[in-house]
Amino acid sequence: MLKENYTIELLNLKGFNVIRTAGNVITICLPVKPHICPQCKNETKKIHDYRLQKVKHLPVAHTSYTILIKKRRYKCPYCNKQFYEKNNLLSKYKSISTDLRKSVLYYASKLFNTKQIADICNLSYSTVVRIIDSIIIPKPTVFPDVISIDEFKGNTGGYKFQCVLTDPIKKKIIEVLPNKNSEDIYGHLANNDIKNRLKVNYVIMDMSNQFRSIMTNCFPNAKVIADKFHVLRLANWAMEHIRKQEQKRFTDTRRRYFKKSRFILLKRRHKLKRNEKIQLSQMLSVSVLLKKAYILKELFYMVMDSKNEKQFYKRIYKWLFLVEKYGIDRFLAMAKTVRQWLHPIRRAVLTGYTNGYTEGCNNRTKVLKRICFGVRNFKRFRNRLMFIANCKKAAG
Ligand SMILES: [Zn+2]
Repeated sequence: MLKENYTIELLNLKGFNVIRTAGNVITICLPVKPHICPQCKNETKKIHDYRLQKVKHLPVAHTSYTILIKKRRYKCPYCNKQFYEKNNLLSKYKSISTDLRKSVLYYASKLFNTKQIADICNLSYSTVVRIIDSIIIPKPTVFPDVISIDEFKGNTGGYKFQCVLTDPIKKKIIEVLPNKNSEDIYGHLANNDIKNRLKVNYVIMDMSNQFRSIMTNCFPNAKVIADKFHVLRLANWAMEHIRKQEQKRFTDTRRRYFKKSRFILLKRRHKLKRNEKIQLSQMLSVSVLLKKAYILKELFYMVMDSKNEKQFYKRIYKWLFLVEKYGIDRFLAMAKTVRQWLHPIRRAVLTGYTNGYTEGCNNRTKVLKRICFGVRNFKRFRNRLMFIANCKKAAG
């Protein structure tokens, strides 16, 4: 009796009685109880016959178990209808238990590849593929208030780049689009299948003119926000460009020193340690151009730290003025971009919305691609990405 209870507990077979255990084969059946005839709705306990069904169940401690269910068929004495008793052990894949299927989906919601899942669950590769392909990720029906869009290199479905559309507030992927062709993105988003298109308030993106034009067409009432990380990167790139340009004139030793210490120039001044501050002033003392570039970089970071609109405009105009005054090519080019994206940058500062969540999704996509050795089939790729991002709890 003790062993029986133990087996029931361990294999999560509550509600069943164990008839026999032989090695890893466990024969079980449900207790007899009155059933309602599906045809005439009368109650019956009359048993017609039994059938043994083999079910693959969850491996426990790396051991696989085969469950034999002695399935009972009842016969209705009123209308003669024969029917099998219901049990919650079987999934719709008749030879796999619900728990085992759930287990496959659990691993599919994490970063495991098909072969790994097949090994863990002791199933064939094709069974795992079949279960994963049975996941249906519905198309979105309504757009949220804030949307973020980004591209990523998925190399799937015959296209190098795909786009991901997310809800950065609820932290969910809204949709994965098969490519980044403007007409295709527009076709996917600007139709009436998805509600609230005209109610979208903000669209966050990197500073891509292509996305800006598509998204303002798709969401005519939305205001564009430039992703803060991409905006700040412009200042770092300009700073790095000037460092590389200047260090070409240096001796080998000094050049190597500047290359090794470049983080001193990139780090925020107020985050430098005391000895690093000394190092910084030594580095800046060797080149006027480098010093000017450094001032512009730091001031730009301060622009992005602005607390309100007034402060933002005061700081950005001061920055733009200094860029003109210093006349450094690389910063003049950056200022041109900043002017073109002035309002989206201001909104980034004032709303605090970023593409951080979307970038996180893209990093996870990279990991998935690596562990799966690429996913050629776009539909499968989309479903898996969205399942991992959105259905963590559903699968657990
Ligand atoms: Zn009946």
